[in-house]
Amino acid sequence: MIIFTDVNKWYGSYHALVNVNAQVKRGEVVVVCGPSGSGKSTLIRTVNRLEDIQKGQIAFDGQDVNAAGLDLNKFRTRVGFVFQQFNLFPHLSVLENIILSPTRVNGLKRALAKDKALTLLERVGLSAKADAYPGQLSGGQQQRVAIARALAMDPPAMLFDEPTSALDPEMVGEVLNVMKSLAREGMTMMCVTHEMGFAREVADQVWFMDAGVILERATPEKFFTQPEHPRAQRFLSDLR
Ligand code: ATP
Ligand code: MG
Repeated sequence: MIIFTDVNKWYGSYHALVNVNAQVKRGEVVVVCGPSGSGKSTLIRTVNRLEDIQKGQIAFDGQDVNAAGLDLNKFRTRVGFVFQQFNLFPHLSVLENIILSPTRVNGLKRALAKDKALTLLERVGLSAKADAYPGQLSGGQQQRVAIARALAMDPPAMLFDEPTSALDPEMVGEVLNVMKSLAREGMTMMCVTHEMGFAREVADQVWFMDAGVILERATPEKFFTQPEHPRAQRFLSDLR
């Protein structure tokens, strides 16, 4: 579903991604972890081309992400992306936030888009908030709307970059629960997160990054009990 082949990225002379070769298969959940500055955000942002790469190839659902002439706006609607800062449109209601892309980009009829949005809001537990504005919602609620908005485009995969890091602790659980249910329903997911409980519970693979390199790829069972790389061992013992 997402295939990285010899991916290299530089910011100027800084080598931010070094020979990344990895795959996320359909239906898999991959958790990307590693110290600050290791390249986790850079890696995930290359998938919807928020960051360009200078060498290698990335395929997303069969599409060469860096192909010349790719319609980026259209492509990005196919890649569900949830940011740390929820990035909702503040001047639009929750419902309007969710139906914007389906109606504008996909030409879905407003009534159909609305039905779908209401179903998605129910799924993330926010049926009562359809007419609210983002500023009237808690961080956890806004993030769940952001997830519903991404899902409204029926993306083949979802990418998350620290979706719970900006939340008050008591709101982390409600967002993780939505992510867990998505994972259990078979959504292909790539998640940058420090929530190791989430990784243990639903990840199929954990990728550990350091200095732009994926140093270790393992099942959570293996990664959390017997990490191979000394850097990963240190990272995990620092968490405890
Ligand atoms: P964090 O856990 O703090 O979010 P990260 O693992 O997501 O870190 P990245 O944001 O991917 O790390 O950054 C990887 C490296 O690339 C860092 O050294 C960072 O300073 C550098 N970097 C990131 N964005 C840019 C940029 N736009 N220009 C120059 N260097 C950058
Ligand atoms: Mg980051």
